[in-house]
Amino acid sequence: MKNKMKIIQYAVTILVIIVLLCGIFSIIKRLTGTSSTDKLSNNVSKEQGKVVEKEVDNSVPLTKLSISAPEGTIRVGETMNLDIAYEPNNATNTELKWSCSDKGAVSVSEDGVIEPANDAAKKTVTVTAKTTDGSDLSASFQLRIYPEIDPSEPMVAITFDDGPYEPTTTPILDALEENYAKATFFCLGQNVNLYPELVQREYELGMEVGTHTLSHVQLTTLSSSELETEITDSIDALKNAIGVAPTLMRPPYGDVNQDVLNAVGSHNLCCVNWSLDTEDWKTKNADDTYRMVMTATDGDVVLLHDIHDYNVAAVERFVKDLQAEGFQLVTVSEMYEARGETLDPGTIHYRTDPTTQASEETTAALEEDGAGVNADEETR
Ligand code: ZN
Repeated sequence: MKNKMKIIQYAVTILVIIVLLCGIFSIIKRLTGTSSTDKLSNNVSKEQGKVVEKEVDNSVPLTKLSISAPEGTIRVGETMNLDIAYEPNNATNTELKWSCSDKGAVSVSEDGVIEPANDAAKKTVTVTAKTTDGSDLSASFQLRIYPEIDPSEPMVAITFDDGPYEPTTTPILDALEENYAKATFFCLGQNVNLYPELVQREYELGMEVGTHTLSHVQLTTLSSSELETEITDSIDALKNAIGVAPTLMRPPYGDVNQDVLNAVGSHNLCCVNWSLDTEDWKTKNADDTYRMVMTATDGDVVLLHDIHDYNVAAVERFVKDLQAEGFQLVTVSEMYEARGETLDPGTIHYRTDPTTQASEETTAALEEDGAGVNADEETR
């Protein structure tokens, strides 16, 4: 009995000590907590009697913030990692508040991944990030949102050769821009050097930029060192203008042989010819170019030139009309990717779905007239 009483006494004593220790610990915690967190926000919250959900440490504020998107365009259904840079490195609160000029058109995750909303297609928005640490810094960038590609719907790849050329490439780009349509430009290196700003605009609008060699020579007639120079100089011209090397080449006159394919392949280039030739260089008028383009079928790669003034009116008409007929106007690479086909270096392509009758006819026609070679023709 006596022993039992003693045990109870001991238990009560231990309980009292535990309660006292807890009390002392919580007092210490409150005291040290106040000194290491933001005093202002704690004071405010006490005055208003609100519970602070998250204690924010603004003791080392940001002094510099910059945000950029690696590309100026995005399609619905895609995401992009934003480049976020700030100073100093030891800033204590780097949380950003994001906003968009068109509310809800994009969302940005905590780690800087941007994603357009499903209904945001055909919008060009300004995205802004603001600091939340009281430093009142902000940074903005513009983003052009293209519609999502639906692989089950028809699409064509419009391609323009021989440019850029200011008087005609500019209005052609205007028409594509206005209608959120994409195309592929196979540029001549010598024209890229003359009009780098036009190639920059093509690239910034999300157009695909490929090479059409430096000086429009027939590649199969060149020695291996001449061939090498044509290819490397044309790649360098594009790298100087837009900072990236092309992955696609359109050989002048569509003329290739295995030596040419090997040479371009060694520079990570894939050759892309065409399945629908508008023969714009021959017919020389907007109506004929327009009519030819409107005969396009799903998967066609369409050949035009952005150096002819009569093509401007044709582009202004067919871009709208092809879209009205349900065609998606996409780049060559986008079309191949959407159809699950590859564009490997050193290979040649004419259209997606190479098993179709149209493609076989195109290939046969090219073989018949010497792979489309006719050096007497003005341009191709
Ligand atoms: Zn050409």
